[in-house]
Amino acid sequence: MKKIVAIFHLLLVSSLLIAQTPKKYALVLHGGAGVMSEKSMTPVMQKEYLTVLNKALQVGDSVLSAGGTSMDAVEKTIMIMEDSPLFNAGKGAVFTHEGTVELDASVMDGKTLGAGAVAGIKDIKNPIRLARTVMEKSEHVLLTGSGASQFAIEQGFKQVPNSYFYTDKRLQQLQELLKKEREAGINDKHGTVGCVALDTYGNIAAGTSTGGMTNKKYGRVGDSPIIGAGTYANNLTGGFSCTGHGEYYIRLGFSRDISAMMEYMHIDVQKACQAEIEKLTQLGGTGGVIGLDKMGNIAMEFNTSGMFRGYIKSTGEKFTAIFK
Ligand code: ASP
Repeated sequence: MKKIVAIFHLLLVSSLLIAQTPKKYALVLHGGAGVMSEKSMTPVMQKEYLTVLNKALQVGDSVLSAGGTSMDAVEKTIMIMEDSPLFNAGKGAVFTHEGTVELDASVMDGKTLGAGAVAGIKDIKNPIRLARTVMEKSEHVLLTGSGASQFAIEQGFKQVPNSYFYTDKRLQQLQELLKKEREAGINDKHGTVGCVALDTYGNIAAGTSTGGMTNKKYGRVGDSPIIGAGTYANNLTGGFSCTGHGEYYIRLGFSRDISAMMEYMHIDVQKACQAEIEKLTQLGGTGGVIGLDKMGNIAMEFNTSGMFRGYIKSTGEKFTAIFK
């Protein structure tokens, strides 16, 4: 009898302990990869970028630590970067060849494999929120241009003028690129924002938001709103958000390929991201990827000289960096 009481007691104590142990969560973000060096970026500029990255991490952390969902964390974190003029997403996005701004974004829910995306957005302040609304309130995955705007208005989004997104820095980039293009035919400017989160319920969500590439023409759409290219999430494996030369990411089926490597070859998240970046390099593309798996293990891989990036975990561990 005594023995049974002791076993019962032990079971009770251990289940109480498990209930009290805070569940693990993690969040990783990027603010674009590209050619950047400590020399070309003043300490003041570096501090400005790191301040926004830290603010975005803090916002995501407060959602997750309060028991919020990974999808809420991804949306709120990305909105901080969309509202900052420093990143190529939302306010501060790059200019098209025609001197306007066209935004792309997507989200994916790793639990349901639900996804939503928008492309060629000219008048909605936070495309990431619209992408999530497409996932939750429409029967579709990807809406583009004026149709996406019409859907946004029907869903109660306020329109902003295209000039809301303009910044002098991006206009200058377009002008410099047009000049270079006239001289040599190149287009090498990119930068985007993204976030992947694991919540306390074990669910993973990923999202990406971008202005695309400076000087883009003909309604060009990159990888960021393409599920399986720029964004992918699956609770079985992990979640991923990409930044880089979109045409290469689309052709590689980049983020879905990482997930497949993890699922079929049982490769860990970091090795799978490294292997995919290697494929990108072989193909001649540049950029980076962030990812996390169901255990909260983080990957941040890129083949450029820098990538704005950071992560935060329920353990209190926090990291931000710009250069390699
Ligand atoms: N991947 C984005 C695109 O190709 C740009 C970037 O990440 O810098 O549209």
